[in-house]
Amino acid sequence: MINSCPCCSGPLVNDFVPTKNKKEFLKKSCNKKLDHKFSIQSFADNHDEIERVYVTVDTGKLVTVVWDLLIKELYVTQFLGYPNLNYTTKKSAYRLPYTDPDLSDYPKLVRRIKTYIVFS
Ligand SMILES: [Zn+2]
Repeated sequence: MINSCPCCSGPLVNDFVPTKNKKEFLKKSCNKKLDHKFSIQSFADNHDEIERVYVTVDTGKLVTVVWDLLIKELYVTQFLGYPNLNYTTKKSAYRLPYTDPDLSDYPKLVRRIKTYIVFS
């Protein structure tokens, strides 16, 4: 389980996020820094299974890239109501080709995201 931010190594802050069907998610975030934001989301009853990864990057404007690991989708949203990103925002998002997020090399991950966005 990831307990520190892969970008700045700072501690991740836990948030329990309620959903419409009364399930809760655990969201662990680094969202106080100006130059990056990072979150992982898991089911509250199973913290070991990461469901989504959120990475916010600056491409001239801030965009949030979301990995949905369960259905293997990667999409970009310009919604800035971070960290309360939910399914409704997915409608205004666009998809990128899916690859698993490699959190061991954060700068490389961000470079890859930016390249995808530029060419999509
Ligand atoms: Zn961080």
